[in-house]
Amino acid sequence: MPFSAIIGQTKAIKLLTRALNSNRLAHGYLLVGPEGVGKSTTAHALAASLFCQTTATGSPCGYCSACIKFASGNHPDFLTIQPEGAGIKIQQIRELKKGLSFPPFEADMRIILVKDAQTMGREAGNSLLKILEEPPPNNLLLLVATDSEPLLDTIVSRCQVIPFQPLPPEQAIPIIQGNHPEFSADEVEAMAKLTGGCPGQAGTVYNDEVLHFHNKCTQALIAEYASQAEAFEEALYLAARLAELKEGLHQILDLLALSFKEDMISLLCKEKPSFSGNISEKREGWNLQRLSAMVEAIDLARRQLARNCNRALVCEVLLLELFA
Ligand SMILES: [Zn+2]
Repeated sequence: MPFSAIIGQTKAIKLLTRALNSNRLAHGYLLVGPEGVGKSTTAHALAASLFCQTTATGSPCGYCSACIKFASGNHPDFLTIQPEGAGIKIQQIRELKKGLSFPPFEADMRIILVKDAQTMGREAGNSLLKILEEPPPNNLLLLVATDSEPLLDTIVSRCQVIPFQPLPPEQAIPIIQGNHPEFSADEVEAMAKLTGGCPGQAGTVYNDEVLHFHNKCTQALIAEYASQAEAFEEALYLAARLAELKEGLHQILDLLALSFKEDMISLLCKEKPSFSGNISEKREGWNLQRLSAMVEAIDLARRQLARNCNRALVCEVLLLELFA
């Protein structure tokens, strides 16, 4: 992806393109900001611009052999270091160091992307510091981190730090749409809110399973039942499925709470609730008191789960409350 295709992060991109165009790149950059705001994408865009053999336009051409190799993940001068297990290990940095003593294979410059640099322990950090202190020629280090705090101060001071910010919804929405054409417009909007301006988190934290289950719950909540007993039967069925979800449970609670809060805001603004796009008479009949009780029930379930209460029981009580 060229710089021009990246949405948002204009300050960071301006800084890098200025350095690139004036041939004044630093030896090391630290791209720091929350997960999913475009740090790695930007690092890849910089690498693509540096590798392209026909740089007349200042943007990678996409057709030369270097561009094709890089796009397919096979450029020999692009190295990625990422956590093995819990973090980046010293052995990985030692191996990197050995590799750097040789000149780049094909390009004028070798580019090393260090992902999740904040996971480096002290030993690995000290080893990387030595590389930054005496950088072998024609190597560019791009460190990407969610937080600079865990990094050695000496590493941070050896790099040019480029901060990345969460994106406003108008920028996050088109990114989520582009990455997830399978999401509906409502889902994209919900993701933009839930991921708090970090659109890269959509689809990882909030995956298909979570979205599918959330849809199922909201559909069931607004469905008409022949009797209250039938509604409770549905509630207990969903509660059992919900309790079985390992990672997704908290995300589904987030999504449900968000949709009820949206409905409350719509009511306060005297608009028709619009979040689910499936407004039944039942949903229109929910008043502020009812919606607020449902949000409270979700908060209570969250607190109980945090205290390791029985998942199945917490889910049953919650769903029965929501279906009451
Ligand atoms: Zn090219």
